[in-house]
Amino acid sequence: MSGATAQATPLGVYVHFPWCLKKCPYCDFLSVAEPEADRIPHEAYADQVLRELERRLTVGLEPGAQGEALELRSVFFGGGTPSLWDSAALGRVLRGILERLPWRELPEITVECNPTSLDLERANRLADVGVNRLSLGVQGLEDARLEFLGRLHDGALGLQAVADAVASRVPRVSADLIFGVHRQSPEAARAEVLRLAELGIEHLSAYALTIEPGTQFGALARKGRLPLLAEESVADSFLAVEQALSERGFAHYEISNYARPGARSQHNLGYWRGAQYLGLGVGAWGTVRVSEHAGTRGTVSLADGTPGGTARLVRYRNTPSPERYLRADFSQLDPLMSLGGACASRQPSSELMSELEELSPETQVSERLMLGLRLAEGVDLEQVEAETGASVLTAERRRAVERQLERGGLEWLEGGRRLRIPRAAWLQADAVIADVM
Ligand code: SF4
Repeated sequence: MSGATAQATPLGVYVHFPWCLKKCPYCDFLSVAEPEADRIPHEAYADQVLRELERRLTVGLEPGAQGEALELRSVFFGGGTPSLWDSAALGRVLRGILERLPWRELPEITVECNPTSLDLERANRLADVGVNRLSLGVQGLEDARLEFLGRLHDGALGLQAVADAVASRVPRVSADLIFGVHRQSPEAARAEVLRLAELGIEHLSAYALTIEPGTQFGALARKGRLPLLAEESVADSFLAVEQALSERGFAHYEISNYARPGARSQHNLGYWRGAQYLGLGVGAWGTVRVSEHAGTRGTVSLADGTPGGTARLVRYRNTPSPERYLRADFSQLDPLMSLGGACASRQPSSELMSELEELSPETQVSERLMLGLRLAEGVDLEQVEAETGASVLTAERRRAVERQLERGGLEWLEGGRRLRIPRAAWLQADAVIADVM
C-alpha cells in the first residue's frame, strides 16, 4: 500500500531463503544444501513467510499506532539462494509485503542470485513479479579459483548470468566478487572487475576472502592446510579494484561496495545508517522499534524513530531450523513474543524465535559507529544522538577519536558534526573502528 507521510521513518524488509544447491566451503551464512531444487517446499515456505508477516503486522501496525509513520524503502530476498525459489511463490510474498506496508515510491526490491539458477527467462520472470534489482554472486571469473572456492559454476556461466541479468527486464544489476584468494594477483582482480563493469552492471560488492570459524575453510585453516594470500597482496588487490572501478565511474561509497551514480544499495544503506528492518523467514534477523501500551496485552507497535517514550529497539532472530519454521503455528504466537517479548519477559522462548535482545542506547551508538564508519559519508553524530538518546563522545571515546584524528585514521566533516575514516585509511578501517568502539 502507499500512503507514507513526508516525515516517514525508513523501514527495510529482509526475507531469508535458506536453501542452496550445495554448501560453499567458505560460507557462514545460514544455508541448507538441497541438490534437488524440486524438493524445496516453494509454496509451503511462501505461505509460512506470509503468515509470519501477517502475525508480526497484526500486532505491529494498528490504527493510530506510530507505525503509520514508517515508510518501506527496500525489500531484500537474501539467502541461501533465493533465485532457486519459484518466482510465482516469491512474487506472492513480495505482493503481501507491498500490500501490507506503507510506501510512497516503489521500494528497491532485490533478489540474490547464483549463476547456476539465473538465466534470461528466469530474470524476466522475476521482473514480472515486481523485482527491480538482481544481485549476482559471481565471486570470480577464473575456473581454477572458482573450483577452489567450491562454486558450482565456472567463469563462463558467471559471465553469462550477468549478461542475462543485464539484458533482462530487471532494471538494476549488481555483482559480488571475492578477491584476495590464493594465487590471485592484483592484476587479475583488476581484470575481473573491469570485465564485469563492461557488461553493464551498475553496482559491485568486492569482498576480501575472510576465513570464518564454523566453515570448512575455517577447519582447514586451523590445521594449517588452507593456502592463503599474503596480507600485503590482499591490500594491493583492494587498491587495484578501487582504482579500476573509479576509472569506470563507480563511486566507492562503502569499504566493500561501489556504485554508479544513483545506484547505491538502498537496502544496505539502511543497515549501515541504523534503519529498522523487519526480518522474515528461517534464521532471519530483524531490528525494530516497538512500543508497549500498558494494560492491553498484545498491543506491540512498530514505532517511528523518535527516542524516549516507551519505544525500545529490539533485535530478534527467527529459528535457523527450516523444519521448525515450516511447522510453526503463527496464529498461536504470543504477540509480545513476536516483537516485544524482550520488553515483557526478556525470554526468547517462542518456537519461532531463537534470539531476542533489547538494544540499549549505548549498544545502538556502538553499532551505528561500527557500521557508519564503513561509509564514505561517515556518521552524523548529532543524528545518532537524537535517535538513540545517548551521548556518542563519552570521555573514553573522545580520547580514541582524538588519537585517530592525529594519526589520520579519522577526520571531521560538516564542522565537526560528521565523522569519517578518510579514504587513505580504509585499509586500516577495522583497527580504527576497534579503537573507537
Ligand atoms: S551459494 Fe551463497 S549462501 Fe549458498 S553456500 Fe554458497 S556462499 Fe553460502
